[in-house]
Amino acid sequence: MSGIRSTNTKPEILTRKALHRLGYRFRLDSKVGKIKPDIVLASRKVAIFVHGCYWHQHEGCRLAYSDRNYSAQWKKKFQDNIERDKKVVKELTENHWRVAVIWECSTRDANVFDEIINNLHDWIQNYRNQYFESRYKKILV
Ligand SMILES: [Zn+2]
Repeated sequence: MSGIRSTNTKPEILTRKALHRLGYRFRLDSKVGKIKPDIVLASRKVAIFVHGCYWHQHEGCRLAYSDRNYSAQWKKKFQDNIERDKKVVKELTENHWRVAVIWECSTRDANVFDEIINNLHDWIQNYRNQYFESRYKKILV
C-alpha cells in the first residue's frame, strides 16, 4: 500500500501534536521490525496507528464508504488492507507490544478528539490490555 498511503496526514499530525503536548517524545519513521507504525513509543513498547477510515475500511463508519461502485480490483485491495492490518496487530501483540488504532473519524471533532486522546493517555499509562481503538459513536451509521 506504499503507493497509496500518504504520510503526515492531518489526523496523524493532530495525534502527534496531542501526544507531544502530553509529554510523549518519539522519533518519526521508527520501525518495529518491518512494521512501520505512525507513532512508536519505544520505551513503553506502544505502537500507534492513525488509520484513514477509507483505506482501512473502518467498519460501520460513513467515511469508509463512497457512493461509487467498487470494482473487483478495489474490493480486493481493501480486503488486502484489512488483512494486513490484522496481521500487523497480531505480530506486534505477539511480540509484547501494545497497539493503539486512532481512526480518522475520531480526529474530526475537537471535543471528541480530546476525549479520545485522554483515553489513549490513560491506556498508555494505566492499562495492561494490549489493544486500544478509538471509537466515535456519533459517526457510525
Ligand atoms: Zn471511521
